[in-house]
Amino acid sequence: MPTFSGKTAIVSGAAGGIGGGAALRLAEGGADLALFDLDESAIEPTAEKCRAAGAEVLTARVDQTDSASVQQGIDRTVEHYGGVDILSANAGYCALSTLLDQPLEEWNKHLAVNLTGTMLLAQGVARNMVERKSGGAIVIVSSGAAVQHVDQASAYSVSKAGVKMLTEGLASELGPHRIRVNGIMPGLIETGMVSPIFDLSSTSKARLIAGTPVGHLGTPDDVGALVAFLASSDARYINGHSVMIDGGALLH
Ligand code: NAD
Repeated sequence: MPTFSGKTAIVSGAAGGIGGGAALRLAEGGADLALFDLDESAIEPTAEKCRAAGAEVLTARVDQTDSASVQQGIDRTVEHYGGVDILSANAGYCALSTLLDQPLEEWNKHLAVNLTGTMLLAQGVARNMVERKSGGAIVIVSSGAAVQHVDQASAYSVSKAGVKMLTEGLASELGPHRIRVNGIMPGLIETGMVSPIFDLSSTSKARLIAGTPVGHLGTPDDVGALVAFLASSDARYINGHSVMIDGGALLH
C-alpha cells in the first residue's frame, strides 16, 4: 500500500463518488486531507470515514469556477498544514444535450467547471509546491469521454479532452520542479453523476455489464486505488499520462 505519512492532499469533488473514493484511499495511506466541494456539509460523510482511517481532515466550500474561492481553499489548507503535497482533482459536471439544442450557458458551464476550474486548482497548488521546492503529485480525473464520443455529451467530452491536454501541459512544465502530473480516464463508475445520465435499471445495467469484459462496472474505490498509486512514489517515473480505467469497455 502507498504511504503518504507526513503528506497533505487536497481532494476536490470530495462530496462526490470518485472524490470520496480517492480521499479514503489517501487517508488509508496516511495523508492528511483538505476536502473541497461546492456544498461543505455534503463532504461530512467522507470526512468522517477519512478521520476513522486516521487522517486529519479540513473541509472547505470551494466553487472551482471562481478563482477567488479556489485560492481561499488553497490558502486555508496552506495556513493549516504548511503546504500541499498532493492534489487529487475530481470535481466535475455533466448534463446531456444534442449540440443543436445546446444552450450556451450549459456549454460554458462544462468548460468552466471541468476545464477552467481544474486548471485553477492545479495552478494554485503547483504555485505552492514550486515556492516550497517540495515537489509533489497531481492526479486529474478526466474521462473516457475525452477520447471516445458519448451520445449527447459533446460539451462534456470537449471539456474532458481539454483536461487531458491540460494534464500533458502541466506535466511538461512542472516535471523539472519534481511535480508529476497524471490523469485518469474512467469508464462507467457507479456514482451520483451517472444515475441521471445512464438508466441503471437492471436490464440496462445488464447490457452495460455485458459490454464490459471484466463483467462488472467500476466503483469509486477502483478509481481511488489508481489515484493513490499515481500520487505515490511507486509511480515516480510516470508523468503526463492519462490512464484508462474501464474494465476494458473501450475495446467494445
Ligand atoms: P459526482 O457527481 O458524484 O461528484 C462530482 C462532484 O463535483 C460533486 O460532489 C459536485 O458537488 C462537485 N462539483 C460540481 N461542480 C463543482 C464546482 N463548480 N466546484 C466544486 N465542486 C463541484 O460524480 P463522480 O462520478 O464522482 O465524478 C467525479 C469526476 O469523475 C468528474 O470529473 C467526472 O466527470 C469524472 N468521471 C466520472 C465518471 C463516472 O462514470 N462516474 C466517468 C468518467 C469521468
